[in-house]
Amino acid sequence: LTRHFLARAGASDLNAFLHIDPAQSLAQAAAADARLANGGAGPLTGIPIAHKDIFVTRGWRSTAGSNMLANYTSPFDATVVERFGAAGMVTLGKLNCDEFAMGSANENSAFGAVKNPWDRLAVPGGSSGGSAAAIAAGLAPAATATDTGGSIRQPAAFCGVTGIKPTYGRVSRYGMIAFASSLDQGGPIARSAEDCAMLLGEMAGFDARDSTCLTAEQGNVREDFTRDLNVPLTGLRIGVPKEYFGEGLAADVEQAVRAALDEFVKLGATLVDITLPKTALSIPVYYIIAPAEASSNLSRFDGVRYGHRAAEYKDLSEMYRKSRAEGFGPEVQRRIMVGTYVLCHGYYDAYYLQAQKIRRLIADDFQAALGEKCDVIMGPVAPTVAWDLGAKSNDPVANYLADIFTLSTSLAGLPGMSVPCGFGQGAVNGRRPVGLQIIGNYFSEAKLLGIAHQYQ
Ligand code: GLN
Repeated sequence: LTRHFLARAGASDLNAFLHIDPAQSLAQAAAADARLANGGAGPLTGIPIAHKDIFVTRGWRSTAGSNMLANYTSPFDATVVERFGAAGMVTLGKLNCDEFAMGSANENSAFGAVKNPWDRLAVPGGSSGGSAAAIAAGLAPAATATDTGGSIRQPAAFCGVTGIKPTYGRVSRYGMIAFASSLDQGGPIARSAEDCAMLLGEMAGFDARDSTCLTAEQGNVREDFTRDLNVPLTGLRIGVPKEYFGEGLAADVEQAVRAALDEFVKLGATLVDITLPKTALSIPVYYIIAPAEASSNLSRFDGVRYGHRAAEYKDLSEMYRKSRAEGFGPEVQRRIMVGTYVLCHGYYDAYYLQAQKIRRLIADDFQAALGEKCDVIMGPVAPTVAWDLGAKSNDPVANYLADIFTLSTSLAGLPGMSVPCGFGQGAVNGRRPVGLQIIGNYFSEAKLLGIAHQYQ
């Protein structure tokens, strides 16, 4: 199995993989074989998995898609990597992504864009574009990804695969190179909800090394996320937010999502009109909070302890300046500047504090709908199908606006998933997939996966 996927990954020209090391993978595969022969194997033993290059991996480069870390090798494994290793999964390699997970198209990677396997003229989405493209093209059977404002759900949608962003705090962030710590959350991308359920079972659960990881007392225990896969959907109340179907939603995406909703009605669910009035505010709120946290997190890349250091400099201050100017790409620099600005004395109250207050109101919107009015919420993942490579690469605001349907879930810390639900119209070079988004209340991952499985 490992040889099969190594061959496919090695022959691919999608640029989904940044780092393949067959010798290491095959050694892990041999260990898995021994375990399968001698006992102690679990259901995932011997199954290959590729990791987004945001997760640090001992013995492999971990770049976060950045020149800053182009030659960085971590001395330890991220908790997620360690847990999959303990389950006997075989690391297949490291996957391309937007630099420090900042982006929606994978075009901000220092190591080049990734092609969408459905249509090579299209972006794969981002920031986990390598993860989604690798699954869609059959280069790996399972992948890790991270979602700060949509980076699991949107690339999964653009590449026609399944991904789930768990409740914030479910999955340990230890060894996940930080972008915006109050939003970052790891999760799987795979071919189906069933596969995602098995993978999430290994990822989720308290980890003492991440202070924001939810504890066992809070309910973050190792769970069997496959437990609801066969629960019928009779009586399920699906909230359909009017803000997710308004202006700006492409007709072909709306058609595919509405067709999926009709399928759910056939499966016994009922549709309920709901409203999430603060949806539009999620863009300015997210693009204040995420850069603020990023500017703080990325201050550790100073050319001293690790990462890129400029070759020539006069003094310490020039060494910092040149190392960071050379190591960080334009989008990362933009976010550091925005983040520093909104946190500075005099603007903190006007921007950052206001954004935090609206963040709470956005979370309240969801609580007003979930429970009383509906059990889950459904809508599109993104307003359009994947756009052309290069089409928005010089227009950061156009990229930000396309995040409209994924940001509020992240700001609220809720779990959300992306499930393939058809294709857009009018593509000339290939078909471009559409993703259905399913959002649930805190800790409802098993339910979301079950609902997706019934549909799939
Ligand atoms: N597109 C969003 C951004 O650029 C979300 C990225 C993410 O979830 N990592 O910040």
